[in-house]
Amino acid sequence: MSIRVDNISKRFGKFQALEPLSLEIPDGELIGLLGPSGSGKTTLLRIIAGLETADSGNIYFHGEDVTRVHVRDRRVGFVFQHYALFRHMTVAQNIAFGLEVMPKARRPGAAEINKRVANLLEMVQLGHLASRYPAQLSGGQKQRVALARALAMQPQVLLLDEPFGALDAKVRKDLRRWLRNLHDELHFTSVFVTHDQEEALELSDKVVVMSAGRIEQVDSPQQLYAQPDSRFVLGFLGHINILEGRIKSARMQQGKAWIDLPEAVADLPEAQFYLRPHEVRLQTEPAAHAHLPLKVNAVSLIGAEVRVELEADGWSSPEPWEVGISHAQYNSWQPMRGDPCFAVPDVGHLFTPA
Ligand code: ATP
Repeated sequence: MSIRVDNISKRFGKFQALEPLSLEIPDGELIGLLGPSGSGKTTLLRIIAGLETADSGNIYFHGEDVTRVHVRDRRVGFVFQHYALFRHMTVAQNIAFGLEVMPKARRPGAAEINKRVANLLEMVQLGHLASRYPAQLSGGQKQRVALARALAMQPQVLLLDEPFGALDAKVRKDLRRWLRNLHDELHFTSVFVTHDQEEALELSDKVVVMSAGRIEQVDSPQQLYAQPDSRFVLGFLGHINILEGRIKSARMQQGKAWIDLPEAVADLPEAQFYLRPHEVRLQTEPAAHAHLPLKVNAVSLIGAEVRVELEADGWSSPEPWEVGISHAQYNSWQPMRGDPCFAVPDVGHLFTPA
């Protein structure tokens, strides 16, 4: 089921929560709505669901205008951050609930309901917990029940609002992978809200980046990361290190810092370059093509990598720098707060957004 959002806008009192915006979601895609708190993600999701009415514009499902169709009749399934399971019902009863309360004319028979519940339990790998109550489940298990309950209605569109927001990092990661696999198997169209960049990039076919009620960019995760359209998108998808200065004879200079530029960018009078943490190396001596002195601010060990936070030394950068180094480099260098070092950007990655 494809979804078309056409010129939708929404105000709450004087506050413009959504500027008029449009979006095409092809059938069977998994779409992430990503943006900071208050950017309008949930409002857009609720309008697609029919839980909220828009001030202007239309919503189409598979080419059909559903703007004025009641939420009950839109065949959408929901999963929210807080599981909202019925506490007095078992896992199996929770999953069956939506089917049991359907109008008689559309309600499947008891045998069909049991069959569907059994299939869903298997699909979400909870068959062995069918007769447990929600209080006896972990957060990840509850969220899988919530998903099974939504899928029981055989929705054409599945909408998820921060579905894994309340779970710890490891469970989140497992559930993401699991949802992605389930989606690839069943091919429903889904839209999920998240403010977690990693989640959006890992899970989505396409990411819709939102800011202040507007859509900033819609692209595949790879495209967004490699070619952000704006400074906002660039900065929102992870840390960036900023290098700015005047350019003369193919050399950019600012204070004590300088770097020889590749031909492609050497003609500008001045520029600002953005480098991801993995596009910079740290050395205790400057390189031949770059002299960018930094001072270590903090060092943190995060799993496979060591993250070094730094500040410009003898020049200025609008934000602190962050560079990831390997454990091997950390062990041989042992950087401490206040230690001097030099950044060596991979000049192939010097990049200035349009
Ligand atoms: P979050 O990640 O914090 O959930 P969001 O991007 O989902 O944020 P929305 O929940 O869509 O943002 O809210 C967008 C803006 O609209 C916010 O500033 C919010 O305060 C405002 N808003 C949302 N619902 C209402 C409402 N019912 N009445 C008044 N203002 C609202």
